[in-house]
Amino acid sequence: MASTQPAPRYVSTRGTGEAVSFQQALMTGLAPDGGLYIPDRIPALDPADWQEPERFANLARRVLARWLEGEVPREALAAILDDALSFPVPLVPLEGGGWDGVFVLELFHGPTLSFKDFGARTMARLMQHFLEDRAETLTILVATSGDTGSAVADGFAGQEQIRVVLLYPKGQVSPVQERQLIAVRPGVHTYAVAGTFDDCQRMVKAAFADEDFATLKLSSANSINVGRLLPQMLYYIWAVEQGGFDEVTICVPCGNLGNLTGGVIAALGGLPVRQFLAANNANDGFARYLRGEAVDFVDSVRTISNAMDVGVPSNFERLTALLDDETMRRMIIGDRVDDAGTLASMRRIYEATGYVADPHTAVGLEVVRRHRAATGDDGPFIVLSTAHPAKFPETVTQALGIEPVRPERLAALWHKDTHATPLAANLDALKADLFSDV
Ligand SMILES: *Cc1c(COP(=O)(O)O)cnc(C)c1O
Repeated sequence: MASTQPAPRYVSTRGTGEAVSFQQALMTGLAPDGGLYIPDRIPALDPADWQEPERFANLARRVLARWLEGEVPREALAAILDDALSFPVPLVPLEGGGWDGVFVLELFHGPTLSFKDFGARTMARLMQHFLEDRAETLTILVATSGDTGSAVADGFAGQEQIRVVLLYPKGQVSPVQERQLIAVRPGVHTYAVAGTFDDCQRMVKAAFADEDFATLKLSSANSINVGRLLPQMLYYIWAVEQGGFDEVTICVPCGNLGNLTGGVIAALGGLPVRQFLAANNANDGFARYLRGEAVDFVDSVRTISNAMDVGVPSNFERLTALLDDETMRRMIIGDRVDDAGTLASMRRIYEATGYVADPHTAVGLEVVRRHRAATGDDGPFIVLSTAHPAKFPETVTQALGIEPVRPERLAALWHKDTHATPLAANLDALKADLFSDV
């Protein structure tokens, strides 16, 4: 049955200002009062969504139609999702060594090998869709130290009315990450900045506040945008369907908590999730909060699961607006795994089952192992696998003594043209280059 309810509108977590359309929330990112946009209601899922097998893109169409009714025509939405979410999303059972009942949901089969492809690709196409009615070009400006930059560069490349300007700290990203950033893509300009990631972020911030840049119509593509959030609930529904589960506990490796927020929205829509396990590395402010401590977020420290090195998780504000403290602590259990525990986890799983997990996934798997040992709960469990092990060959070799198999789409990057413009770490240098180039 086609739903005829109007789409949810979006309100600020800080409670001021008018409710806005999805389009406006997507295009502006942050609410005017500095808060994050949350939906004013959560459309209910239909049990058929997880009980009847279907192609991933069809499930995506049906679920997101309820969120975008009257905002994006059905046919346009179908085309956007077919194009954005065209890669497999397998649910892989672990077998042997006490791991039966644990399933890995591999979210890394997109072009840049991390789960960020879901959000970035969908968001790019939705933005381009809304720009088609306007004679406007947007510039997405991002500072990156890892997965986000490549997912954004790849996800937005080739969208006609959007160009991407990417800043990364030269010499401070891994060789695989650098390849992914400097591969030449239509509409994407990459700068190799002589500075740190913090310098890059400072330049981005300054650009947003600078009048000269206003002519470029700057926008960001960070993890707080609703355009990244909505597609991140789809694979939770898909995983429950694939496993044929009546109820399941789902473990999420966490950084900015965007991935987990997608799952919480699916659960609030009726998906039968028994509990969520929030897996932190040494940056464990969220896990400590869930254990009952007062909120105490501090600066991040570096770990080998570096996409989770977030001191102050931006989506925490969204979670606390969606759930009160008591509900959140009942619904989500947190735990922390340090680097030694992560390496040991990678080794343990490989030896018991032959499965090669990347460091982020290994943090999640270790949280499940401990939870099982402590509670005797025998599952089922799903662990979201957020990145492909081949993105972290040095760590895989250190833990397992083998080299991860490099998938074709990653190997192909070494045959592509590359380009990055060297840049001094200040805004004037960026200005001089960008504006000479327009
Ligand atoms: C971004 C990222 C995370 C953290 O996801 P959040 O939505 O920020 O919590 C975990 N693992 C990998 C590989 C990532 O790229």
